[in-house]
Amino acid sequence: MDYYALPIANLIEELSKLPGVGRKTAQRLAFYILEMEPLEAEKLAYSITSAKEKIKYCSICCNLTDEDPCYICRNKKRDTSTICVVQGPKDVVAMEKTKEYTGLYHVLHGAISPMDNIGPDQIRIKELLKRIQNGEVKEVILATNPTVEGEATAMYISKLLKPMGIKTTRIAHGIPVGGDLEYYDEVTLSKAMENRREI
Ligand SMILES: [Zn+2]
Repeated sequence: MDYYALPIANLIEELSKLPGVGRKTAQRLAFYILEMEPLEAEKLAYSITSAKEKIKYCSICCNLTDEDPCYICRNKKRDTSTICVVQGPKDVVAMEKTKEYTGLYHVLHGAISPMDNIGPDQIRIKELLKRIQNGEVKEVILATNPTVEGEATAMYISKLLKPMGIKTTRIAHGIPVGGDLEYYDEVTLSKAMENRREI
């Protein structure tokens, strides 16, 4: 690192913190940025700070949004009696692409994982229960990932919901175990939703 001027070294350092970016890629990106037109570089920097500044959690579904409530929770045409529970914001996008689901969502921002010290209180389960206590919800679809953590989270939530008399379903796995919901194509996801079962 000592071979680079400090501002370049800093840029490389920061870029290398991004997921999937190794030292070499960080160097390549840093030099690419240095070659950019000043206005383009400014736009890049601005898009990062502005996204960080403007994006917050929806006070209803906990999805990331620039307006609260988010556009899905605000939409009067959505079926408010169904909530689809997912691990992350990217899963909402994947589900929306199927164009078949018309209910609401709840984004947990993670899954229960004792190995990583993530318990039920570290993800947005409390917020989900609060929504359900408000009365309108008839079905909760557990669409967490088909991984050990995703299954454990689904089981945990279903146990909480059972005594509340809420129909609780789990999406079917026409999809490989160990996968990430966001990578499935629309057909696979639609099928999984269609074949969901009560748990
Ligand atoms: Zn929302």
